Amino acid sequence: RGAVEFRNVSFGYGPERLVLKCVNFKIAPGTTVALVGPSGAGKSTIMRLLFRFYDVNEGAVLVDGQDVRTVTQASLRANIGVVPQDTVLFNNTVRYNIQYGRLEASTADVISAAKNADIHDRILTFPDAYDTQVGERGLRLSGGEKQRIAIARTILKDPAIVLLDEATSALDTHTERNIQAALGKVCVNRTTLIIAHRLSTIIHADEILVLKEGEIVERGNHETLLRQE
Ligand code: ADP
Ligand code: ADP
Repeated sequence: RGAVEFRNVSFGYGPERLVLKCVNFKIAPGTTVALVGPSGAGKSTIMRLLFRFYDVNEGAVLVDGQDVRTVTQASLRANIGVVPQDTVLFNNTVRYNIQYGRLEASTADVISAAKNADIHDRILTFPDAYDTQVGERGLRLSGGEKQRIAIARTILKDPAIVLLDEATSALDTHTERNIQAALGKVCVNRTTLIIAHRLSTIIHADEILVLKEGEIVERGNHETLLRQE
């Protein structure tokens, strides 16, 4: 579970311009792929096509060998988790925010998701903090903590595929690396991870796809791409 394929995908938001031009790649289940490229290269668009926010103009997007156009929205949503750049937390407890989407989750599930996402010690060592209100007068969370909560609530749903769309780009490099490492640990051999990022240096990925103006201009791993520079 969690195989992804883009087969000769072309796409434009309007008729005047193609934003993706004959994009081809395959991602094996349980591996991590980084989509790297400047702003406007088409990274977010690839993610939107994957969960069928839009349909391709040409080619096909396949998840586990099935064209996403033949799969129900409900099953796509269950299969694909998204961690956005700016997490919006509910004005509710930390626990509620982690449980969101799986409200029947037990406390043990929530704690284990939080541990996997490596949420701040303060929250782990004071389980009461789970029941602390997130918001104006409640627990003050840093950007890094918010993103960890977003990751915890995504992994609790155990989707086959997790998309990180610049999910950690707003954080400092140190926090960013920690979060990527925590996520990599839970996802390895279990969850396909697709990370969109402007820099390739941050990410540990099995494969890096370099996008430019809607085309994959290079692909490889850190070593092979570095050798070319
Ligand atoms: P990236 O994620 O790499 O920054 P995007 O996939 O967001 O790139 O954007 C690719 C191109 O598509 C850009 O030229 C952008 O301006 C354009 N684009 C993105 N979203 C829309 C939209 N909703 N409507 C029209 N054009 C869009
Ligand atoms: P980041 O650089 O990740 O945004 P911050 O510098 O905002 O981190 O926060 C660092 C730590 O201080 C976090 O644990 C956060 O919860 C805590 N914190 C931030 N602002 C306040 C505040 N006004 N009162 C109490 N704790 C705070």
